[in-house]
Amino acid sequence: MRPSSQAVDQPILEVVERAYMRYAQRSGMWLEEFTRQGGVVHCKSGCMNCCNFPVQVSLAEALVTAAALSAVQMDGMRRRAARVMKNAKSASNWNEYFERHRSQVGYCPLLDLESGTCSAYTARPARCRDTFSMLSSKFCEAGAMQRLSRAERTDYNREVKANPVTDGVSHYVAPLEELGEPIWEAAGDAMRSTWNLEVWGDFWVLTTLTQDAAFMAAVRSGAATRATRRAKALGLWHLEIVRIEQ
Ligand code: SF4
Repeated sequence: MRPSSQAVDQPILEVVERAYMRYAQRSGMWLEEFTRQGGVVHCKSGCMNCCNFPVQVSLAEALVTAAALSAVQMDGMRRRAARVMKNAKSASNWNEYFERHRSQVGYCPLLDLESGTCSAYTARPARCRDTFSMLSSKFCEAGAMQRLSRAERTDYNREVKANPVTDGVSHYVAPLEELGEPIWEAAGDAMRSTWNLEVWGDFWVLTTLTQDAAFMAAVRSGAATRATRRAKALGLWHLEIVRIEQ
């Protein structure tokens, strides 16, 4: 049973959870066929090299995660949201924000640092589900690209470009990211048809905002300006971090 404050959002949660299930089926079939043909995906349990990436979500997905978290986990999300905001407000550009997010804001609070596993695995967002590496996980580490020599960078670019399952630019598996797109579409449609607006942004900030009654009341009544004002009052507003689209 979910807490009653979330019962009103139940239809949206169910849309997202169904989309997660469809993704699990489709990505599972893709991976089975890929490995049957000799393909290798380098992600495995215990690797946490991508758990310090910025993660974008819909508010619909944030509700799913929030519903699965304990009070202690939610406190971790709140502290992390404050660090995300501090980084966003002081960064002079996206690259600086991105690099500092990885090196200073650090690992997601839902990561179990001892085992390297996600403590909210079944409620993790789409971005965490559809990120798979075609190359060694050392290329996913923070600062890995900057540490490459010119010759290593040339080899990396050549390998990524020649690999048929990357997008030709990075070493992540493009078809598995594409299979995740219906999750974003389903979440967007559910938010628009229910709230008459869409809310997108940072995973930790939006998950924190789901816990604020005034913010959620504004969202549920389609009041974008009121929701924005409330996020600002909470110190959880930045153009790059929370986007409310009406
Ligand atoms: S939600 Fe889980 S998989 Fe995603 S960044 Fe956090 S710990 Fe990693």
